[in-house]
Amino acid sequence: MNDQIRVGIGYDSHRLVRGRRLVLGGVDVPHGTGLQGHSDADVLTHALMDALLGAAGLGDIGRHFPDTDPRHKGAHSVDLLREVLALLESEGWEPVNADVTLLAERPRIADHVDDMVHNLEMAGMPAGSVNIKATRGEGMGFVGRQEGMACMAVALIRRLE
Ligand code: MG
Repeated sequence: MNDQIRVGIGYDSHRLVRGRRLVLGGVDVPHGTGLQGHSDADVLTHALMDALLGAAGLGDIGRHFPDTDPRHKGAHSVDLLREVLALLESEGWEPVNADVTLLAERPRIADHVDDMVHNLEMAGMPAGSVNIKATRGEGMGFVGRQEGMACMAVALIRRLE
């Protein structure tokens, strides 16, 4: 395939429970509940990884990091992102940009966005390539009832020179 740019989409959701940390974009966000999952349940980073893998035609994170694998229990998702970006590079791809929308009723994440972007860049996303925004559920659905959070992401990648 000689396509020079490709796009991918990612979506993820996790249940909110008591007694778990809330990790978003590698940031520990102070909150009364956290996301449930095998890894740190970083829904934002999961959606981003799926968008990148999808763009490269490399499946999804469930294929590369199965939650049946004890190595991934409690894994830091930003470390998995670093592995995803290494995989893309080995396949001859680099990210151009990613746009991420977190669906969360609470808490407000605006104060944490810069730290999230920093973490994703430290994991290998190019500087200035990641945009993170959030929207509320307005009381509707599982997001609005604060039963969980979801995240959508799109990523554009290009052929390495
Ligand atoms: Mg997930």
